[in-house]
Amino acid sequence: MLIRSISLLLLSILSSGFLFSQVRFSSAFESGSMGEVRRIDSTWTKVSAKDSILTLSYDLSSRFDPLNPVDTALKPSARWYYFRMDGVKGKQIFLNIQNSEAIRPFYSYDGINFRRFDEGENLNKRQVNKIFTQDTVFISHFIPYKYSRLSNKIEQWRKCEYVDYREIGKSHLGVSIPMLTITDRSVPDQNKKRIWIHGRAHPSEQPCSWHLEAMINELTSGSEYSKSLLSHSVFYIVPMINPDGVIGGFSRSSSTGVNVEINWDREDSLTTPEIQVLKAILTELTEEIPFDLFLNMHSQIANSATYWIHTAESTSPVTYKNQLLLSNLTVNENPFYSSKDQSFSDMAPRYPEGWMWNRFGDKTVAITFETPYTYYKENIDGDWVSVENLSRMGMNSLYAISDYLDISTSSRLLVNPRIINKRRWTKTSGNSDVFFEDFFHKALSKRAKVIFYAPDVKQGEYKIYSWSVGPADKVSPDGKNCWSEVAEVRQKRDGKLRLRLKADSVGGVVDKFLLVK
Ligand SMILES: [Zn+2]
Repeated sequence: MLIRSISLLLLSILSSGFLFSQVRFSSAFESGSMGEVRRIDSTWTKVSAKDSILTLSYDLSSRFDPLNPVDTALKPSARWYYFRMDGVKGKQIFLNIQNSEAIRPFYSYDGINFRRFDEGENLNKRQVNKIFTQDTVFISHFIPYKYSRLSNKIEQWRKCEYVDYREIGKSHLGVSIPMLTITDRSVPDQNKKRIWIHGRAHPSEQPCSWHLEAMINELTSGSEYSKSLLSHSVFYIVPMINPDGVIGGFSRSSSTGVNVEINWDREDSLTTPEIQVLKAILTELTEEIPFDLFLNMHSQIANSATYWIHTAESTSPVTYKNQLLLSNLTVNENPFYSSKDQSFSDMAPRYPEGWMWNRFGDKTVAITFETPYTYYKENIDGDWVSVENLSRMGMNSLYAISDYLDISTSSRLLVNPRIINKRRWTKTSGNSDVFFEDFFHKALSKRAKVIFYAPDVKQGEYKIYSWSVGPADKVSPDGKNCWSEVAEVRQKRDGKLRLRLKADSVGGVVDKFLLVK
């Protein structure tokens, strides 16, 4: 009985006198990260005749990556934070987050379902405040995408008949780096387009993994679109090239402090096992045939999605034009990306794209795609980045890839125009416009006609689009460099589909057609 009274006494002491110290912080779990935490204030506020609320304020710093041993002038990054607080129920907690952004970051009571702090809980960029309704809460910069999630997803994806799994090597700490090869093996690989995608060089860039996961989900979904895409293409996908960084909750580096994005021009002794593993598999896979497309998935702090398009001066006019075509195709029917969001930079050998450029030049378009953490198109009143809209954008990315590589699928058929009366058209080429193949057609007369013809179209309702050729400028004029609808057709029975179309004006252009069910 005495023991029971003592423990009751202890309990009552714990729940009153030690209230201030009852909030506990931790980050000792997968992908967890936190620097120092310091309580700066605590006050009881009377909110009604009988009730008081405890308000606690903390200064909390995010954790810096280790000093970069190779690029010693680089300041270590401290973007990522993901920590757990216990003992918060019913208390008003102010968190001042140092070293990083806190723009409507996320919280979760179960570590699985995350939601953003709302505007009123995030009045300052570096501060959140909230009265939590449960005792344990996880706070994170973005919804974590962990290595363990990838491993579970891989187990699921591997069940798809089109997926081959391979461990391409191990990280510095001995963690497996997986690659998925996704294609329809009943169709010979000869003539298939070859697409490489990797992500998460930078561990804090969680949105890019949700985007890439959606792309792999679609490729392995067995949908009509993905099945026909995979009969014409092979995808080589390394979803996480820096697993140590992801597991350890690092910001931009590997566990040894190296930024694996920027050491591709260094000899092996100055890079990391992760870069060596990637270089080896890339060399092996391109021994005979280069890739058609090489995508490097990242996330950026700017409030927009973007490709980093390499300038014509640092690559070639053809590669510049091809990058613009891919980018503008990604804009198509995409509410989360516009041609105004496009970013430009010079190709440099320290990046994976530079390494590819030095080997394959114009044969491979190698480019980085960035997803944001906050919102899209610099529009704070628009959609805030979520797993759902990243997933939707994954679909746009796949459509852009198949259109760019001129892969016709059951639901998106790409067709070259048949020119009637060749004297009324002129072939135009060059690198000042964005178009599909070696040339497009310009009408010399208002009566210039062209035929859309597809030999084998299933019964149904379709829309026909024409690629609206526009200038290879940094921002496309409205209505240019996009699919423009030219007709709606009903195919009454399976078979050929033929449509006669007229130039809208002298100088009117025709390039590729797209038929969408
Ligand atoms: Zn990055």
